[in-house]
Parts: sequence; C-alpha cells; structure tokens
Amino acid sequence: MTSAALPPASVTVRVPAKVNLELLVGAPREDGYHPLATVYHAVGLFDEVTVTAAAQWGLTVNGPQSLGVPSGDGNLALRAARQLAEAAGVQDAVHVVLRKDIPVAGGMAGGSADAAATLVACDALWGLAMTRQELEGLAATLGSDVPFLLSGGTAMGSGRGEVLAPVLARGKFHWVLALSEGGLSTPAVYAECDRLRGAAPVADPVPSPEMMTALRSGDPHALAAALQNDLQPAAISLMPALGDVLEAGMEFGALGGVVSGSGPTVAFLAESHEAALDLAVSLTASGAVQDVRRATGPAHGAHVVGGPRAG
Ligand code: ATP
Repeated sequence: MTSAALPPASVTVRVPAKVNLELLVGAPREDGYHPLATVYHAVGLFDEVTVTAAAQWGLTVNGPQSLGVPSGDGNLALRAARQLAEAAGVQDAVHVVLRKDIPVAGGMAGGSADAAATLVACDALWGLAMTRQELEGLAATLGSDVPFLLSGGTAMGSGRGEVLAPVLARGKFHWVLALSEGGLSTPAVYAECDRLRGAAPVADPVPSPEMMTALRSGDPHALAAALQNDLQPAAISLMPALGDVLEAGMEFGALGGVVSGSGPTVAFLAESHEAALDLAVSLTASGAVQDVRRATGPAHGAHVVGGPRAG
C-alpha cells in the first residue's frame, strides 16, 4: 500500500480573527438574543488548530494568547470536534492542539475561529468531505460567528449573525489592532447596551447604504467614515479607558476606529502599510494599550495548511 492511501494522522488548519466593520443591534427577542445586522471582515491574525487521531479526547493550548482559554470540554474547539463526530457517526477521538494568537475575549471571535478550524480539520482527518452547507449548519449550532469563520473574507450577517450573505467588497485594508488588558464578557456588553438604551424604542437593524458603497469602492476613507458599532457605548461604559484608546488612535493618524464586536479590541483603519506601521509605533509608545498588532483584511477563512500528514 502507498502512503497516499493511508488515512492522515494529523491535520493543521489556519483560521483568521474577525472585526465587525458594522454592528447594528436590535431590541432583544423573546429568546433573549438580539437581532443583528453586521458586516464581518476577516483579518490576518491567525490561530492554528492541529487535530491528531488519539485513543481519547484531549486538548493542549499554547501560543502567545493562551492565557484564560478553557482546557476541557468548555473549549469550543473540543465541542466542535465532538459534535462533528456525533453528526457523522465517527467513533474515533482526536487530540486538539490550539496555537492561539487571537486575543481571548477580545471581540475578535477567537473561540469561534477555533471551532470553525476544528470542523475543517476533523472533516479532513476523518475523510468526511462534508459540503460547505453541512459544515455551516453545524457551525451555526456552535455559535453565531462560527459560520463566518469558515468562509472568511467580508460578508453580511443577520439573524444572530449566523445567516450569511455575500457583499461586494474591493481592495485590501490595513488595520492596527489595539489590545487592552483583560477581556469583556459578550453577554455583559449586550446587557449594558440594553441598560443604556432604557425604554427608548430601538429600530430593526438594517445594513447601512454608506457601508455597502464604501465596500464597493474599496476606498479606505469611505470605509473609515462608515465604521459603526452599536455596542461601542456599552463597551466604553464598562471599560472607560477604551474612549482614550479611540482618541489616541485618531490623534496618531488613523482614518477611523471602532471597537470590534463586544470589545475591548479597537480596530483602527490606516491609509497604507506605512501609515499602519507609524500608527502602531505611536500607539505602542503612548502606553495607552496593552499590545498592538497589525493585520490586513480581508483574509481567507479556515483552511488546511501543509495538507494532511499521512500516518
Ligand atoms: P465573540 O466576539 O465571539 O463574543 P470574543 O472574541 O470576545 O468572542 P473569545 O476569545 O471567543 O471571545 O472567548 C470568549 C470566551 O469563550 C473566553 O473567555 C473563554 O472562556 C471561552 N472559550 C471557549 N473556547 C475558547 C477558545 N478555543 N479560545 C478562546 N476562548 C474560548
């Protein structure tokens, strides 16, 4: 038998983080979820997930952003692997190794990214060849952001964010991501948003024409002017230093800035690669943030890197 005929012993998948270019939040539904109109944008800050055939389920977390990542069944990656096994009738277990470079509880959907990557990795490891639609269906049961991280790029999300639609988007954008110490809990930020809104009527969320025009044009100035996040006041209310971070970034030459998702990461848009470098240096020197990363977008969704290794 040639090695090509043997099942792979191990598969590694790379998956990007996301920022929300637009995040419009409606009033909570009866089931407690808030209806969303969002524009997701995958950026080149990556986790890597390696799954290996094993006698029992297991997980190892390493990499620069591994602090605070749950190690057991609470980890979304492990949950994704088990769920796929159950759905596909696979009896085998895997050991999952996460290399975390996406900030934890940062509003960049790192946990969802790992879940998406694990679905793709296990699908390849087990030779399931599931369709994109089947994987998206499973992804949506794991979390609202998970389907987007399978596809990556730039896309509109509605419902709870899990219903994806393509958008026409041109160009490559240069981002500077300002990371703050400590995360923000997503449910706490939504609760604060509701509290701040009080009894005021809330319009149904509808994607803005300004954002669609900006994406079609590929013009970073137009995109900067269209950045919008309804959760931003709530994130700033819970972490007031974020207001200073936003101010600092704009002072240092960002075209625009927005809290990503439920925060606390702030995504600044720069005009060019050089402008992003300058902005990153100034923000780092200011001491206003814990860490600064640069990334371009859009990035590809979860994809196998290096191909499966034959066992
Ligand atoms: P979102 O924007 O989707 O709300 P986030 O980027 O704010 O997410 P995550 O990094 O996805 O936050 O983590 C949120 C919580 O999920 C963490 O505090 C952690 O307890 C839990 N979690 C479960 N699995 C993972 C994982 N693989 N990586 C990181 N966190 C995970």
